[in-house]
Amino acid sequence: MSEQKDSEAIKMKEFLRELPAIHEIQKTEHYKLLRSSGKFSDKLLMKMVRDSTNYLRDKLVNGDMESNRCTEQEFLRIILSELEKKTQAYLKSRLTNLINGTGTVLHTNLGRSRLSELAVNHVMEVAAGYSSLEFEITDGKRGSRHDIVENLVKETTGAEAAMVVNNNAAAVFLILRALAKEKEVVVSRGQLVEIGGSFRISSIMEESGANLVEVGTTNKTHLFDYENAVNENTSMILKVHTSNFKTIGFTETVATNDLVNVKNQNPQVILYEDLGSGSLYDFQGIGIGDEPIVSDIIESGVDLVSFSGDKLLGGPQAGIIAGKKELIEKLKSHQLARVLRVDKMTLAALEETLKIYLSDEQTLEKLPTIRDIKKPIEVIRAQAESFREQMKDLSYEISVEDGTSQVGGGTMPDVELPSSIAAISHNRFTAEELAAHLRKGTPPIITRVKDNRVIVDFRTITDEEMPLVVEGFKYLR
Ligand SMILES: *Cc1c(COP(=O)(O)O)cnc(C)c1O
Repeated sequence: MSEQKDSEAIKMKEFLRELPAIHEIQKTEHYKLLRSSGKFSDKLLMKMVRDSTNYLRDKLVNGDMESNRCTEQEFLRIILSELEKKTQAYLKSRLTNLINGTGTVLHTNLGRSRLSELAVNHVMEVAAGYSSLEFEITDGKRGSRHDIVENLVKETTGAEAAMVVNNNAAAVFLILRALAKEKEVVVSRGQLVEIGGSFRISSIMEESGANLVEVGTTNKTHLFDYENAVNENTSMILKVHTSNFKTIGFTETVATNDLVNVKNQNPQVILYEDLGSGSLYDFQGIGIGDEPIVSDIIESGVDLVSFSGDKLLGGPQAGIIAGKKELIEKLKSHQLARVLRVDKMTLAALEETLKIYLSDEQTLEKLPTIRDIKKPIEVIRAQAESFREQMKDLSYEISVEDGTSQVGGGTMPDVELPSSIAAISHNRFTAEELAAHLRKGTPPIITRVKDNRVIVDFRTITDEEMPLVVEGFKYLR
């Protein structure tokens, strides 16, 4: 027994000695081609060669491969094929475009908002050249990057002043830190929310150094709860949009107007509303959800609001802060404003996005987020039918059915947008297998799986993307 083991170990050692040396690999055409491609530094290429050799060695040592069947040529072939895999994987971008077949318009894992073409073009121009990021062209003096979109935010929200930071989480943090550090901030227990990805109002409050004063209960907070909690130590009342959930039944929250009254009786108190999504468009007016419009909130008399750039607004990731000039000035001059500032590409995208809101109703459709949330079911159904037609005679069974899509991004959680879906089964793959194959395609197609069928919701698929979807499915015929 042990003799046999020993002899196997000796055999293995011999085999490992026969593994091609690095210089043998370097002599191959394959290696030379990789080297002359210019896509890899010598250092990186050598690392990948060593890793590929180690891959084979591990396979032999672990007994994953029958070593006695291998010739040196075969060893070389395995190493080169592994090297090819590694170099291909290296060239592929991790961040890659894909087709969102889920119908969820603001899919947090898929990058939330698509940018409008106007925004994308402006980003490309600005990014490729020098720009007036912090420069006043008229007088040749240093300018402020805050000025780039401030007027547009003022126009679209009616606020006195505005600024932009990295995202809405950063906006909440900056506001608490700069205006309420070591002071009391009153928040309803019903609004101590967690917004996906570990952003909790209570934790961010703790990090900011502000002292949380909880009022009310999970389901009900009354005006008198706020009135009783506010005293001379109170610096802020924070109202948080409970974006991603709804309390139903025996509930009560205090309207912004009433909080404005509490604030007016306590002049040192700042009323700040974290709007989460912060819509500039009246979705409620077209029968979708009950999202407040930013300008209405500003008009009601709150001191500050903040909201995301890439949720309902349909722009780049950003946190927009709007409100009283005096407070915005304090925020702009705080050290953290520099830490949380946005770059020129964000500002370029945001500038064009906000401009669209100042155009007519028809031009608003240039914002993919608004266009897709409003997309009529007939248009979606026509896409689904066209897809089914093009898949005829292949290995699929496809039925076009009514379905619903979500707005997503933690906004309007109770809104179901009427949609049309293609429910697809394949005669060899299970739905899970089919969905996995589609994810591995180029571009990847992301679908939902329900009742052992793959579901594609065409709300989030454009006409331009349709041929890619068709090709993706045809490829797996
Ligand atoms: C989404 C959200 C945030 C975080 O915004 P990001 O832009 O994702 O950082 C904060 N507060 C509320 C209420 C939200 O809905």
